[in-house]
Order: sequence, then structure tokens, then C-alpha cells
Amino acid sequence: MVSASGSGGRGGGGGGGNGMFGRDLAWKYCSPVERNRNGTICNFCGLLMKSGGISRFKYHLVHRDPNNNTKKCLTVPPKVEGKIREMLHEKNKAKAKKTTHIEEIQAQLRGIMLARHTHVMDEDDDEDEEVYMYPVDMHPDERDGD
Ligand SMILES: [Zn+2]
Repeated sequence: MVSASGSGGRGGGGGGGNGMFGRDLAWKYCSPVERNRNGTICNFCGLLMKSGGISRFKYHLVHRDPNNNTKKCLTVPPKVEGKIREMLHEKNKAKAKKTTHIEEIQAQLRGIMLARHTHVMDEDDDEDEEVYMYPVDMHPDERDGD
């Protein structure tokens, strides 16, 4: 008997792996190219793009190719263009947020390292400035208080 848990017939073409690929909303507006998973055919103007995949197709729709080598779609409905534009925007926003966060952390780390470095340097030129050296008989409490 055949096992019931097989990857049976619903959904169609669920090959695992690249789940995001093909689920992009923009696929509604273009067709995949046979034997070329990076190819798209625009449903509006029929333009065939042999490379770049779905993201390039989106640039085709919103006229915003960073490399400027994608033909613009002349027949895309403004509504659809707006939608795709929004999608791209959302993506950029998410990305930007993440980047900022990482940069923040890096800045913090840098700050800590910088601070440490300064301490070391100051301690090094052992003059009589008591900048960091607390009197030995000082109570720990008094250091932080104040
Ligand atoms: Zn088009």
C-alpha cells in the first residue's frame, strides 16, 4: 500500500526549495518562460525578458530598473504599477530597517572599543593626572554615586 504521507497531488509543482519563487504577487502579471526560470513574459505588453526573473519584471512594470537596461512597460495599468511599486517599497523599507539596526550595533561596539582604547592610552602615559585612577581607599559606592 502506498504511504498516505506522500507529497501527493495538491497544489501542483511544489518542489520544495525555493518557496518564495513563484509565490511573488508579481507572477500574476507575467508568465514564466519554459526552460528558463529567470525568464518572464509580461502579460500586459508581451515583452519577453530572458533574465532577471521576477524582480526584473517588477522593474519593467514600475519603470525603475537600477541598471536601466530593462524596457519599460507601456501598457501596465496604473493600478498594477502602483501595487508593484508599493511592494518594492515595502521590501526596501524592511531592508533599510534591518541595516540600520546592524549599523547601530556596530556603532555601539565601535564606541565601546574606542572607549577602551582611550583608557589604555591614558593609563599608558602614566602621569599624575588621576583621571581614571580612583584612590585605593575609596569605597566602591562612592565611585558610582555622585
Ligand atoms: Zn510589459
